Amino acid sequence: MPWFKNLIKISTTISNQSSYSYKFTTPLASPSLTQFLQFTKEYSTNSNNCSTNHHVAGLEPTKTDQKPRVVVLGSGWAGCRLMKDIDTNIYDVVCVSPRNHMVFTPLLASTCVGTLEFRSVAEPIGRIQPAISREPSSYFFLANCNGIDFDNHVVQCQTVTEGVETMEPWNFNISYDKLVIASGAHALTFGIKGVNEHAIFLREVYHAQEIRRKLLLNLMLSDLPGVSEEEKRRLLHCVVVGGGPTGVEFSGELSDFILKDVHQRYAHVKDYIRVTLIEANEILSSFDDRLRVYATKQLTKSGVRLVRGLVQDVQPEKIVLSDGTNVPYGLLVWSTGVGPSPFVNSLDIPKAKGRIGIDEWLRVPSVQDVYSIGDCSGFLESTGRQVLPALAQVAERQGKYLANLLNRVGKEGGGHANSAQNINFGDPFIYKHLGSMATIGRYKALVDLRESKEAKGISLAGFTSFFVWRSASIGLAHHTFVASNRHRRVKDNGTPPP
Ligand SMILES: Cc1cc2nc3c(=O)[nH]c(=O)nc-3n(C[C@H](O)[C@H](O)[C@H](O)COP(=O)(O)OP(=O)(O)OC[C@H]3O[C@@H](n4cnc5c(N)ncnc54)[C@H](O)[C@@H]3O)c2cc1C
Repeated sequence: MPWFKNLIKISTTISNQSSYSYKFTTPLASPSLTQFLQFTKEYSTNSNNCSTNHHVAGLEPTKTDQKPRVVVLGSGWAGCRLMKDIDTNIYDVVCVSPRNHMVFTPLLASTCVGTLEFRSVAEPIGRIQPAISREPSSYFFLANCNGIDFDNHVVQCQTVTEGVETMEPWNFNISYDKLVIASGAHALTFGIKGVNEHAIFLREVYHAQEIRRKLLLNLMLSDLPGVSEEEKRRLLHCVVVGGGPTGVEFSGELSDFILKDVHQRYAHVKDYIRVTLIEANEILSSFDDRLRVYATKQLTKSGVRLVRGLVQDVQPEKIVLSDGTNVPYGLLVWSTGVGPSPFVNSLDIPKAKGRIGIDEWLRVPSVQDVYSIGDCSGFLESTGRQVLPALAQVAERQGKYLANLLNRVGKEGGGHANSAQNINFGDPFIYKHLGSMATIGRYKALVDLRESKEAKGISLAGFTSFFVWRSASIGLAHHTFVASNRHRRVKDNGTPPP
């Protein structure tokens, strides 16, 4: 997997920001991080997490006459919202992430079939927080954090250089004054053999690109002379595993694509293409019963075959269900929810349902100056609060809240490491669920405005809901992060409208 799979073009953003390119050209041209300006030549660490490299380059602790440094791990909904609102007059910001952009996940399924452009669902970090590109001591590092020395306020990172044969990954360390862990969650596979090798997840822009590429390739292959009927059927069988909002939305987008595009542009093979959605329990289990029934009817009407089943084994061209049924496929998309990442699992701190345990102010209470937000964190049992669902609306609001909290702490003189003990942190974070939404294709969607599954409230389905869904998804992405309106529909020939 090439390392640039997670890079989006940022040349237009940085072309007039010479400091950014200068900061990064040197180390990327040569793997020796000792050439970094403002970096220590050697950085000793006591921790054994990065045991292969005891003397590595890095960013040393800030001095009291310098701005304190906030290190943010991750460039998702939570980390980017925080970076957008952090006051860069108070703090320098360093973001560490294996991806140089934020992804508007609610719109990702629409890019797989060309309803939206890929660039419409990604925003470079340098646009979200320009200081990262401009300020001499703020940085974005394309790397994974793989260990944290909480006692010494140091994160240990490894560069992401997959696919660049001339470069081996190398380790570096960054000292932090405040650390925000916003590294998200990992797709769950339940240890089922073959999922990682043969299925495609739907979490990143490169996943959506891979799905689109495979779908189009299979359409072309199935039209070639000499392909048997059986093989045509296999190639054009799109199987989605997981009946949560993402699996349902993707199935809906696919059925729209089949009805609109395949019937027109691939008429020779239109009768062979099918979509099957496999779910072990109910589809959309968190939604109101009435909406679930509506979604089931609509999906079936659009040609999506709903199968209740448990996947046991994934092979290159077929999956095997627990009842022994073989399901041949040409495209397999896996979306069975998320769980803690290996990085989060590796951290030796109290957890809440496997996530990083936090208090009401989003702090990791067992250590100093560490906070955690988004899908990777959950309220500790001692707070008496529920672990919040893994949702963009939670991550985004936590990011916003924490930026304000850190700004206040910084203004009151508590920005540097170990200096916030006597600062009043103000009101705790309160989350109010605004409802759940999902599209089901054919300009229809579900809007469930209840605060919880048990609560009473409004739930809508149909075209009006689609309008609400589209406005809310684009509105959240656009108003929160995007400076220019780039969420444009793509015309049938693949070019954006003028
Ligand atoms: C297809 C899809 C559709 C969705 N639709 C909706 C929706 O309609 N509404 C809704 O509310 N939610 C939706 N969600 C859920 C929502 O996207 C997540 O809840 C949200 O992204 C969580 O934000 P986050 O910042 O915690 O994590 P993420 O957005 O996942 O970001 C995590 C970041 O951390 C980085 N990272 C990972 N490991 C490391 C490491 N070791 N070191 C440094 N960085 C690391 C990742 O590269 C990434 O940049 C959807 C999710 C998907 C996949």
